[in-house]
Amino acid sequence: MKTLWGVDLGGTKIEGVVMNADTNEVLLRKRIPTEAHEGYAHIISQIARLINLLKEETGLAPVAVGFSTPGALDPSTQTMKNCNTTCMNGQFMKKDIEKAIGVPIEIANDANCFALAEATMGIVKDVVPDAKVVFGIIMGTGVGGGVVINGQVLNGRHGIGGEWGHNVLEEDGYDCYCGKKGCNETVFSGPSLQRYYTKISGKTLTMKEIYQLHLAGTDPHATQTLQYLVKSFGKAISYIINVIDPDAIVIGGGVGNIDEIYTEGPEELKNWIFNSRVVETPFLKPKLGDSAGVFGAAELVRGY
Ligand SMILES: [Zn+2]
Repeated sequence: MKTLWGVDLGGTKIEGVVMNADTNEVLLRKRIPTEAHEGYAHIISQIARLINLLKEETGLAPVAVGFSTPGALDPSTQTMKNCNTTCMNGQFMKKDIEKAIGVPIEIANDANCFALAEATMGIVKDVVPDAKVVFGIIMGTGVGGGVVINGQVLNGRHGIGGEWGHNVLEEDGYDCYCGKKGCNETVFSGPSLQRYYTKISGKTLTMKEIYQLHLAGTDPHATQTLQYLVKSFGKAISYIINVIDPDAIVIGGGVGNIDEIYTEGPEELKNWIFNSRVVETPFLKPKLGDSAGVFGAAELVRGY
């Protein structure tokens, strides 16, 4: 049996999956703690431990393993960057993991793996089976994106393909941790929307509470926050559509679950895209939930 092996490397847990490559059936799934506070070398040994556990329990061995990581592998330096588990940054992680587990690996960031999983095994496969170009977005505490073309992640020359969260939307906006101002992430991530609401209302609420107040129709500031989200999102996504005109857009994360993005977002982007007829781009909610990272990681090595 041909199998796909994937690992979702997170800040708190490392999850592995072994799948049947023909049916995508999950044969085994296992998670262990990352224990990132113990440092980089410990993370590598935890990864090796997880792969050994998967091998022992399935009686199988991988020919390659795909990894979903919080940051990106820079293709020219072969080191990691943009990881929020900061001890990984600057490390030759691909080489170090390959040495530890003895097979080749592929690495893509978590938003790319999300996009890949939903494109090849998730909602896009179900709803738009002939989709060639898919843009996947995670809108939650941060904003990330990934481009999938014909079932392959577009990593790009610098390893930043799809990093839409750090496109600048508001030039005089808030400082972003990436060093720029007014990135998409500083506009419509969950914490950014909460900050916007606090600015106009003087109150501090969670995004969930703000959304409930908007639905109840009792708080004009909550409704204004939702309108700000929809308008900002529509403008930001128009730049993607004008460049790659994807066959489907799939949106995950807590903010990505807000219905108005799907109902009013496409209306809003009519103001911005170079298109004279109705916008046909399907905006889809994801299907795989938390599994997208590990399934997308496994999908990275289908070609081996
Ligand atoms: Zn940024």
